[in-house]
Amino acid sequence: MAETHRRNTGPMTASPRCGAKTRKGTPCQAPAIAGKARCRMHGGKGSGAPPGNRNALKHGFHTREERAFRQEMRQLLRASQDLLEKS
Ligand SMILES: [Zn+2]
Repeated sequence: MAETHRRNTGPMTASPRCGAKTRKGTPCQAPAIAGKARCRMHGGKGSGAPPGNRNALKHGFHTREERAFRQEMRQLLRASQDLLEKS
């Protein structure tokens, strides 16, 4: 088989195979994702969105801590401006 092929497909065919059970009852045998035991169709790349609400956070600008920090900074700035105007 490999001898009739123009390219070297040895490493390709020797790669680990997916062992997921198909609807026929046989193993899937598609190439598994590197370092994983399953192929791209059977959960090798992960299993959907991250748990919880982690995807909703893009930069944290509107988190409670960040808003509180900005408010505190505004108050400090206002206080120092008042101080400067008085002197
Ligand atoms: Zn598979």
